[in-house]
Amino acid sequence: MARTAVLGFPRIGPDRELKRALEAYWAEQITAAELEGVAYDLRALHLRAGSDAGIEVLPVGDFALYDQVLDTAELVSITAERHRDSQAVGLDRHFLACRGADQVAPLEMTKWFDTNYHYLVPELEPGQSFELNAPRLAKWISQLQEARALGVAARPVLLGPFSLLSLGKGVTDPLELLEPLTTVYAEVLQAFAEAGATEVQLDEPCLVLDQSPDALDGFARAYESLLAATGLEVCLATYFGGLDDATLARVAKLPIAELHVDLVRAPERLDAVLAALGSRTRLSAGVVDGRNVWANDVDQSLQRLERAVAAIGSDRLTIATSCSLLHVPYSAAREKTIDEELGSWLAFAYEKLDELALLKRALNLGAAERETLLTDARRRIASRRASPRTNDATVRSRAAALTPADYDRSASMDERLALQAQRLQLPELPTTTIGSFPQTTEIREARRKRRIGELSESQYLEFVRAQVAEVVEQQERLGLDVLVHGEPERNDMVEYFGERLAGFAFTEFGWVQSYGSRAVKPPILYGDVSRPQPMTVSWWQYAQSLTNKPLKGMLTGPVTILQWSFVRDDQPRSETCVQIALAIEDEVLDLEAAGASIIQIDEAALREGLPLRAADQAHYLRWAIDCFRLTAAGVRSQTQIHTHMCYSEFGEMIEQIVRLDADVISIEASRSGMVLLEAFRDFAYPGQIGPGIYDIHSPRVPSVEELESLLALAEERIPRSQLWVNPDCGLKTRAWPETKASLTNLVAAANRRRAAPPSLT
Ligand code: GLN
Ligand code: ZN
Repeated sequence: MARTAVLGFPRIGPDRELKRALEAYWAEQITAAELEGVAYDLRALHLRAGSDAGIEVLPVGDFALYDQVLDTAELVSITAERHRDSQAVGLDRHFLACRGADQVAPLEMTKWFDTNYHYLVPELEPGQSFELNAPRLAKWISQLQEARALGVAARPVLLGPFSLLSLGKGVTDPLELLEPLTTVYAEVLQAFAEAGATEVQLDEPCLVLDQSPDALDGFARAYESLLAATGLEVCLATYFGGLDDATLARVAKLPIAELHVDLVRAPERLDAVLAALGSRTRLSAGVVDGRNVWANDVDQSLQRLERAVAAIGSDRLTIATSCSLLHVPYSAAREKTIDEELGSWLAFAYEKLDELALLKRALNLGAAERETLLTDARRRIASRRASPRTNDATVRSRAAALTPADYDRSASMDERLALQAQRLQLPELPTTTIGSFPQTTEIREARRKRRIGELSESQYLEFVRAQVAEVVEQQERLGLDVLVHGEPERNDMVEYFGERLAGFAFTEFGWVQSYGSRAVKPPILYGDVSRPQPMTVSWWQYAQSLTNKPLKGMLTGPVTILQWSFVRDDQPRSETCVQIALAIEDEVLDLEAAGASIIQIDEAALREGLPLRAADQAHYLRWAIDCFRLTAAGVRSQTQIHTHMCYSEFGEMIEQIVRLDADVISIEASRSGMVLLEAFRDFAYPGQIGPGIYDIHSPRVPSVEELESLLALAEERIPRSQLWVNPDCGLKTRAWPETKASLTNLVAAANRRRAAPPSLT
C-alpha cells in the first residue's frame, strides 16, 4: 500500500512565534533556553499536526532557528573566515553568521531557487576541509528523539552534499570538494542510524538546474560512495523542477531507496521517471503543491498516482508534497475574513496534510467508492473553475483583443526624449529619488490605529496628506529636480495595489518565512484582475498641487505584482500577468490624463522571476517584458516613463532591459562602483539611466566627494546627457536624519558635476 510523506514544515509559527522569540532573544529579553522552548513547541505542533492527519513519513531536522542551509554548513564545519575567531559561543556564535556584529559582516543572503525564501550562502575556501561538528549534529539527533518521545517515527532531512556545495561561494569549482565532504556526510548518516533512524531524506534541489556532464558525474560518484557507506534507506529529494534525461540517467543507476520528484512543477516528466526508476527504488510522487495555496485537484493527482501504481505497484509509491511546506502558510481554515467560496478553494500546510491522506484513501478505492469520498474535494475544484470571479468576461475579451500595436509606443525613444526634454525643462544630471521616503513609527502607528478603528478613515487620510505635504516640502528644500509623493499610504508596494484590484484576496495569518525572523504575507491572486477605480491618482494630484516641479506618478509593475503574490494555477502565469498589466495601464492613462508628466512603473522582481533552467528563460522574458510594455504603450510621447529595478546583474539581460522601452531606468549601481554601467555602454543603451549612487540599505551617509566621484565614474561610461542622479532604491527603511543628510550631499554632488566639464562627450 502507498504511504504518505511531508518533505518539510513551515517553521515561522502560526502566529509568527519564532519571529517574536528570535527578536526577543536578540534584544536580550529572553534566554537561549526560552528561545529553544518556543522552537521545541513549534516542532511538536508540526509533528502532531502531521501524525493527527495520519501522515506516515514526517520530517525532522528541517526545522532551523534561522536557516537550514546555515545549519547544514555548520554541521560539516564550513565557517566564514571572519567569523572564526569570534569570542561568541553557542547560539550567539550561530547568529553571528546570520546577523553579523560591529565590523563583522554576516553571511551573504540570497534567494532560495525561485522562492521568496532567502538562505545564507556558505563561504568556501580553496583547500576547504570538512569535519563533523558534534554540537551541530545534536540538533538532528535531539529532534529525532523529540519525535520519538511524541510517538512519531520521523525521517531526518538534510540538504545533500551536491546542493550544499553548489549553493556555496568562494571557490571556482565547489564540486571539487565533493569527495571530502561526502566522507563527512557518511559520518552524519552513521550517527543518524545510531540514533535509531532507518531512513534519511537528502535534499538535492540543485539536480533540477542545468548541470554539466562533469557536475553530474561528480554527483554520481559522491552518491555511490555515500550509499555504499550507509545502511540507511536514502530518499533523494528533488524539487522546484523536473529531472532532465541526463540527470535522470545518473540518478536511476544509484541504489537509492526512494526518489522524490516534483510532479506539480514537472508532471510531464513522470513517464520518463517511471521508466528510469530502478526496480527496487520507491517513487515519492510530489503531487500536493508545496509552493502554492490552492486546494488539490484530486482527480488530476489521482490520475498521476495511478500511472505510477500501474508502472511500479502501490507498495513502491509514496504520496508526498511537491517540496517542503516552508513556502506556504499554516492554516486556511483559520482565515475568517476570506469569504466561504474563496476559502473553499484554498489549502495551506495543514489542509495539505489532509489532502495527502485523502489521496491515499482514494487510491485504495474503486471509482464508485471514491465518489462519496471525493465529493467535497471535487466540488471545490468545480466551484473555482466555474466561478465568475475566475472568469470575468470583460477582462477576458479585453485581453483577447490585444494586438501587437498595443505593446508599442507611437514614437521612437529619440523622438520621445526630445519632446519630453522640451516639456520637462530639467537641468543636466537631474536629481530624483526612487519613490518612498522614511516609513516612520508614526506612519506605522497611524496605519495600526486605522486598522483597529482608533482612527477613522478620514482622520487617517488627513494624516497621510500631511505626510505627503511634508515629503514634498522636504524635497523642495533639498533642491531635488523631480519629486515624489513619498508613498506614506503604502505599507507594501504590492499589497497596496492588490488591495485595490479585483481578483486579489488578503489573509490575516498567511505568513511565510522570507528569511530568519522575517515573514511576508503575500496577497492571493485568485481571479481575473481588473481595476475598479483609480488607485493612486488622487495622491498624485494632491502632491503635484503642492509643487511646480514635476512629481512622478508611482506604480508597481505587473511582473512584480505577479511575482510577490500567490498566483492562480489554473492558467499560465503569462495570462495572469497580462490582466495585471491591463489594470496598471488603466492607472497609467488616468495619471497621464490628470496631468502627470512622468510615471514610474517599478519592476523590482523582473529579474527574480527568471525560470531556473536556461531553456525556459527566453519565453519568460518575452511575456514579462511584453507585459511591462503593455502598461506604458498608450501614453503620449511627451509623457516620460521611468522604471526601477533593484538588482545589478544586467550583463546577460541588457537586451531585455532595452526592450522594456522605458525612457528612464534607475538601477542599483553603487555597490559595484558603477561597473555595471559597462553593459549599458557596450550596448549603446538608447534611453536615460539613473545608476543608484548610494546604498540605501545602510544608514551610512555618503560624502559629497564620494558621490561626486561615483558620478564621474558613471560619466566615463554613459554620456552626461543620458544620466540621472538618484539613490539605489526607495528610502522607506531609512530614518529622516540620514535621508536628509544623504540627499543634501547627492544634490551637492550633482551640482558640482554640472559645473565640471563632462568626462565623456
Ligand atoms: N518605489 C518603491 C520605493 O521607493 C520601489 C521599491 C523597490 O524597488 N523595492 O519604495
Ligand atoms: Zn529598488
